[in-house]
Amino acid sequence: MTQDITHYKKLLGEERTALEQKLNALGRRMLRNPDEWEATSPEVEHESERGDVAMNIERYNEREALTLELQTRYKEVADALERIHKNTYGLCTAFGKPHPIEKKRLDADPAGRTCIAHMRAS
Ligand SMILES: [Zn+2]
Repeated sequence: MTQDITHYKKLLGEERTALEQKLNALGRRMLRNPDEWEATSPEVEHESERGDVAMNIERYNEREALTLELQTRYKEVADALERIHKNTYGLCTAFGKPHPIEKKRLDADPAGRTCIAHMRAS
């Protein structure tokens, strides 16, 4: 399992870096809460759109939705890395005694926190 953890740690670390880059492009990282980003207004691509308030609002809303989506994933990945750090990675704690999460499940999502059977229940 130790070797597997090294593998997932690498995957999760890479995913976290990629998410940070995307989030930094979409918004500003919150100073007090480094796990959260605030979407910033997109740049106006064409001069003719500058006065198009409706379009700018729509673009901003899209950015905000995407920021939230990426941020949710960022937290999942950060949590998984935290579990690696605390030595609780790869354990499902959804019900009863902690039990191992299947390799298949972690391969599909290294940030998964439940085994296959408890996926829907959690
Ligand atoms: Zn389980």
